[in-house]
Amino acid sequence: MTADEEVDLFVIGAGSGGVRAARIAAGYGAKVAIAEDFRVGGTCVIRGCVPKKIYVYASRFADEFEQSEGFGWSRPQASFDWGHLVATKEREITRLSAIYAANLEKAGVALHQGRATVTGPNHVMLANGRCFAAKYIAVATGGVPEHRPHVPGLDLAISSNEIFDLPDFPKRLLAVGAGYVALEFASIFVRLGSRVTVAFRGETILRGFDGDMRAGLTAELQASGIDLRPGLSVLGIERHADGLHVRLSDASTLVVDQVLLATGRRPATRDLGLEHVGVELAEDGSVKVDGFSRSSVPSIYAIGDVTNRVNLTPVAIREGHALADTLFGDKPTPVEHHAIATAVFTTPELGTVGLSEEEARSTLDVVDIYKTSFRPMKSTISGSSTRTMMKIVVDGATDRVVGVHVLGTDAGEMAQLLGIAVKMGATKRDFDATMAVHPTAAEELVTMRTRTARYVREA
Ligand code: FAD
Repeated sequence: MTADEEVDLFVIGAGSGGVRAARIAAGYGAKVAIAEDFRVGGTCVIRGCVPKKIYVYASRFADEFEQSEGFGWSRPQASFDWGHLVATKEREITRLSAIYAANLEKAGVALHQGRATVTGPNHVMLANGRCFAAKYIAVATGGVPEHRPHVPGLDLAISSNEIFDLPDFPKRLLAVGAGYVALEFASIFVRLGSRVTVAFRGETILRGFDGDMRAGLTAELQASGIDLRPGLSVLGIERHADGLHVRLSDASTLVVDQVLLATGRRPATRDLGLEHVGVELAEDGSVKVDGFSRSSVPSIYAIGDVTNRVNLTPVAIREGHALADTLFGDKPTPVEHHAIATAVFTTPELGTVGLSEEEARSTLDVVDIYKTSFRPMKSTISGSSTRTMMKIVVDGATDRVVGVHVLGTDAGEMAQLLGIAVKMGATKRDFDATMAVHPTAAEELVTMRTRTARYVREA
């Protein structure tokens, strides 16, 4: 196959993982090209973490206004302008996208706008027909919303891709799904003034998270006015004059302005050409890779959500960086996916690192649990019913802290620091030996002395 240009590395997808891999590889002196068929920055910057957090901040003013009265403020009548928020968000993501593009340029990476496909183990073709020969190819195409199952009228619903830019504010919103995306948007829109229903097939929200935290968050979401409806699926959607009529599996019909489908994402490997060149894909469509992100074809690597390992921005970035180190930095670097701290940006937030109580009890012989639930000072003064919950999961045989879970204000910020302690192998004794910062909610993490429960696995 003849090529228009030869490069050392061709990166497909200028999102979190792809941009990092391209920049670092170029920094090592590699000749790098990157293709992006939408906007530079990828899901995180354009329609994920960043715009989401902007909307989270916007939504929380509702609580601040309400709680201020307990502290002596008289509250003026507040009103909210959706169009203003959308425009503010757009300005910010455009600014960030431009910074990403400028950093690529500064590093000497050639950015090509357009869709790329893999045409051989060492060949990539752009939608405009331009062909590249590449020593290595990095697939960093991320994931896309997956709507399952297909029911009549599904095209009337939106995904997280569209919700940020709705022309009209949805006064009535149905979010379908029980994962973090559905719950975060439910939490945002209920505070901005929507009537929000969340319908999901299972019995509980946030599969895989600690059980007590899931129960605590369920109560908080309900208290904020969200109608959580477990055990339900959508059977069909029709447009009528008064809104979208959604038929649910309990034979009820819900009338809403928007239906957000947040039932999952699939790796973006469709029609990418990977199967034709022998790249092995898993059943879910993700690229199968080894610890160095190498696929079954030695010249083709994959990083980030397209590998469906841990689908988070910092993970994609770390995998991209490690790939560049491995290929061009003379530093073979595997990525460790153990004890990754993360947050669910509902209100209140859920911050977590390490094993849930359930995971610990199914894998360790002795598990000690320390937990607390209290109304933080801001709640007691403002009259808010919001509680903070904390749980420390300890390996009873070694005293090592294997998991920490926090539900409450700034839990995401706490999780970042707890991640260091857990990663370093801190013991419960280390937590106890740490002096508290007072008065904070986080101080409970180092002052919990009474063991709530000990579980010993039967031999
Ligand atoms: P992406 O960032 O998705 O980038 C892939 C890029 O490839 C895209 O720009 C796409 O347009 C491009 N592309 C795809 N196919 C082609 C092709 N054939 N040719 C050229 N270009 C192509 N993570 C967090 O850590 N914290 C959060 O708070 C958080 N919030 C989220 C909220 C939402 C609503 C969503 C959807 C995701 C969120 N995530 C969050 C997850 C995070 O966005 C992803 O884990 C991260 O973006 C993955 O990076 P990536 O590089 O693998 O892929």
